[in-house]
Amino acid sequence: MKGHRFDPSVLREYDIRGVVGKTLSSDDATAVGRAFGTIMRRSGYKCVAVAYDGRLSSPEIADALGAGLSACGLHVVRCGRGPTPMLYYATQAEDVDAGVMVTGSHNPPDYNGFKLVLEGKPFFGERIQQLGELAAAGDFEAGEGSFEDRSPQSDYVARLISDYEGERPLSVAWDAGNGAAAEVMVALTRGLPGKHLLLNETIDGTFPAHHPDPTVAENLRQLSEAVVREGCDLGIAFDGDGDRNGVVDGEGQILWGDQIMVLFARDVLQAHRGAPVIADVKASQVLSDEIARAGGRPIMWRTGHAPIKAKMAAEAAPLAGEMSAHIFFADRYYGYDDALYAAVRLLGIVSRSDQSLVEFRQSLTPVLNTPEIRFPCPEDRKFAVVEEVKNRLAECGAEVIDIDGVRVCNDDGWWLLRASNTQDVLVVRCEARTEAGLARLKALVNEQLAASGVETPAL
Ligand SMILES: [Zn+2]
Repeated sequence: MKGHRFDPSVLREYDIRGVVGKTLSSDDATAVGRAFGTIMRRSGYKCVAVAYDGRLSSPEIADALGAGLSACGLHVVRCGRGPTPMLYYATQAEDVDAGVMVTGSHNPPDYNGFKLVLEGKPFFGERIQQLGELAAAGDFEAGEGSFEDRSPQSDYVARLISDYEGERPLSVAWDAGNGAAAEVMVALTRGLPGKHLLLNETIDGTFPAHHPDPTVAENLRQLSEAVVREGCDLGIAFDGDGDRNGVVDGEGQILWGDQIMVLFARDVLQAHRGAPVIADVKASQVLSDEIARAGGRPIMWRTGHAPIKAKMAAEAAPLAGEMSAHIFFADRYYGYDDALYAAVRLLGIVSRSDQSLVEFRQSLTPVLNTPEIRFPCPEDRKFAVVEEVKNRLAECGAEVIDIDGVRVCNDDGWWLLRASNTQDVLVVRCEARTEAGLARLKALVNEQLAASGVETPAL
């Protein structure tokens, strides 16, 4: 294979991703295999696991990727179809050095891409850019590789079930959204006590029921309706590749990632008094306050699965979570974002508690917050706008947290402006105790954006 150039848009901060037939082809997949395989060989590694999600293009892309990896002389363990955390599980529990997941995550059906793991850690940032340079130079290792078909699915499901600790049997509605978690979800619910109602439990890469992104309320409507209609205790949904959850309570109301994290933090902190718990900069102040109240040390960190995992390791934190409902358990588990594992832990907590999820939601300190508001901003301006806002705020002595964008606290609450690492968008979120306070925060954001010449979003 000669040098290979990727479409510049596909080499991203945390993964490689594109539109199949437009910016991503089978040749690209083979080149990813050759380049990643070369990096592995030069570090002395020999064995890599590959799995793929339920998209129509995934089997072909996984084959092309495997061809590239084996052409470097690697042993390729083909794990078959399943959710991203099943591949992560294989990289921890099986005797392999690295893993590649073929997945378009929660994106539209024509997307696909790769999440890379080396030595149990995400392969991201600079290293993805280096992979692109290596491919462009055509500087590949060559050798005679080999293949083996070995599905980790039954071991993975058994591992998930082994951590269930419940008392009262629950009635649960589940929605896999026809995504890659579907088969594991079916096997998991067969092994758990209680009553289980399954929705969209077959894998279908056209996503016929709804888009598999549970951070969008509309995508949880079918689940909410089923929970209310059937009188379930709760409902659990998964995104397209099973690393993020959606949760609804017994009244069909959504509990967002930073609300569910309150339950997880209380649970984990019982076993780890005073431990750090990590949440991203988008999360509610209520979560930080509740972590502290439960005896933990709240740490606010950059959004994104790779920086969160790195911070968890650095702080030896037993738990981390993002507003987007990537939840990471290092307590009794491996520290990666696994929505199926989080579901098992959540069921245990609800099952052991006298409080229903509805009562839990009602017990949280009421705050008014916006969802994550995203609006377009050109690639060459997005980081500059955040920088300009930060400089203006510094001049007027505002209280600013700048680990990822700017998060500004004042007497009304807080507001956040950050540049997305993965798209040409700016992200805003505001949270206040009163309506008037929320309006004042929105006005401050608009004022700052206008000063940088950014068209004001519908705040
Ligand atoms: Zn995902």
